[in-house]
Amino acid sequence: MRAGGTILISDKHARMKPCVRCGYSLTRIADARNCPECGLAVRITLAGNSGLEWSSPGWQRFMAFAFGVLAFGSLCKVVASAADLTLRLALRDLHRLTTKVFLVLYWTRRVPNDAWPIITGIALCLLAKHERRYPDRSRISRRLTLAAGIGLLMLSVLHLIVVQLEDGPTIAWVRYYLWRTLLPPWPQVVIAILSCAMSLEFARRGHSRWLKKLSQLPLWAAAAGTVIWFFDLDQFSWWLRTIVWDWLFPLSIISMSILTIHVLRVSAREATANWVSDA
Ligand SMILES: [Zn+2]
Repeated sequence: MRAGGTILISDKHARMKPCVRCGYSLTRIADARNCPECGLAVRITLAGNSGLEWSSPGWQRFMAFAFGVLAFGSLCKVVASAADLTLRLALRDLHRLTTKVFLVLYWTRRVPNDAWPIITGIALCLLAKHERRYPDRSRISRRLTLAAGIGLLMLSVLHLIVVQLEDGPTIAWVRYYLWRTLLPPWPQVVIAILSCAMSLEFARRGHSRWLKKLSQLPLWAAAAGTVIWFFDLDQFSWWLRTIVWDWLFPLSIISMSILTIHVLRVSAREATANWVSDA
């Protein structure tokens, strides 16, 4: 049936699909143009196009913000490492190091270093936001991302609290195990797998060949770091560990996040024109 330039499909089978925005069953509304529950044009659901340009623009902007938080967390790690290297160099030349410079370098290392797992944990929690696209195919990955985010957040906050407590055998034991858990490679491997999978999905749905390639970069950095950790290669030079975990890994996360944000923002702009009700 054709009405006002739009083809309306009253095929019962096609209408078995739930509305992509709210999940409302379209079976009973054979000829309606818009979903009676949320108002989204029925043709969007029937087309079954999962491209980002046919997805919720609000959700895409939220995901871009979450990737921004992820990039900021990784930037903290780079800043902390730069301050650490400067401090190591400055300590070689003690008589020229003033107390003021020492304190600035000390806190520029300490605050971002404590902040990065907390900010990254928050970013993972944000990335678990439900797209509300029906049928829901991302439930498992969303739950894993949320669990990893909450886990990382709780462990790093707990570690911050425990280091302030007075020494005792139990506290020392808890402090040691928390410190070991937050050391590479575990947090980085989890962060790489979850964020790269998400970025790759956006590359596929946003039709970006560049992002498809770039979204694998943090996985390679995490794999290289895991090989170094597994074979204890850093016993030959601590530089190996610093280069991979404090520079290569966070910088690969930052570049992947920037391109992901770009793809999401461009698609969201296009989706704003598509994600509508029909007159
Ligand atoms: Zn709906």
